[in-house]
Amino acid sequence: MAIQLTKDEKKLVEYAKTAVVRYNKKRHSTGGIDTLYAFVMPDSGKIYDGACLESTISTGVICGERHAIANMILQETYNAKIKSIVIADPVPRVQKNSSTPCGTCRHVIWEHGVPDTTIICIQYIQQKNGWIFPKMEKYTIKQLYPNAYEMVKWG
Ligand SMILES: [Zn+2]
Repeated sequence: MAIQLTKDEKKLVEYAKTAVVRYNKKRHSTGGIDTLYAFVMPDSGKIYDGACLESTISTGVICGERHAIANMILQETYNAKIKSIVIADPVPRVQKNSSTPCGTCRHVIWEHGVPDTTIICIQYIQQKNGWIFPKMEKYTIKQLYPNAYEMVKWG
């Protein structure tokens, strides 16, 4: 079944595909390899980029999703609400299911989104002549994080 995308989601997906190629060419030119990228579109309609920050210390790692959201908050405010986020994950071959955001990122997306915020997971593969994007899945944050964590209010 074909995935239905809104006009904004189509714009975000097209932006993401172009940016993945641009960033990967840069990474490869300096000895790097493909990584996970995220692209977030808040209600302003602007797009903010993020990539997984790798570190030799596990607590130093920052997921691409949270990098993109931090970039959004830096450029806008904490009041920005996420309409949609694209996650582009490198894979060696098409996988049955795409990587979805980790638990921490699901919470942060929920915190800065609305229940209908969409999460579009794209698998991408490096080939000899470039990169292809063979598979895409779409969820809402409500589907991926149905019982959101909330702090108990005392008193
Ligand atoms: Zn994460």
